[in-house]
Amino acid sequence: MMRMIRKILIHPDPRLKKAADPISAVTDDLRRTADDMLETMYDAPGIGLAAPQIGVMSRMLVMDCVKDEDETPRPMVLINPSVIWAGEERRVYEEGCLSIPDQYAEVERPAEVKVAWTDLDGKEQQETFTGLWATCVQHEIDHLDGKLFIDYLKPLKRQLITRKMVKLKRELARSL
Ligand SMILES: [Zn+2]
Repeated sequence: MMRMIRKILIHPDPRLKKAADPISAVTDDLRRTADDMLETMYDAPGIGLAAPQIGVMSRMLVMDCVKDEDETPRPMVLINPSVIWAGEERRVYEEGCLSIPDQYAEVERPAEVKVAWTDLDGKEQQETFTGLWATCVQHEIDHLDGKLFIDYLKPLKRQLITRKMVKLKRELARSL
């Protein structure tokens, strides 16, 4: 089965502000979408992608935070993920987003989170994430709730980034 690179939605887009629907069954169609999402994420390149970012309003995300090229990639697909525990320690990381190209800002989140999800075989999984993985999984779960990393910033900074994106989208539309 050929993997397809999907178009990534750019903020502002109403689909990026909407909560995604829970997934009731792991179907072949869903597996194909997961494959496409991984392909799209690696191609971008990025370390995480949530289904609403390609316009699929389902609670699924993919991620791979292995950055070192000598290390084995670890593509993960999380269906209906939820944070079931968060540590008290906080971590500040300069986040970016494939839906908000070339914009970065520091966001503070729990440094350690335990996440539960369903995998592509329909099995329940749990794992405690730390470091970049913890930041990434929380950023992606936010997408499933219609929340972007810029929503953590002060309104002025958020508006500035949004204006830049409106301009970028106008330029992209014109260049087609
Ligand atoms: Zn994002």
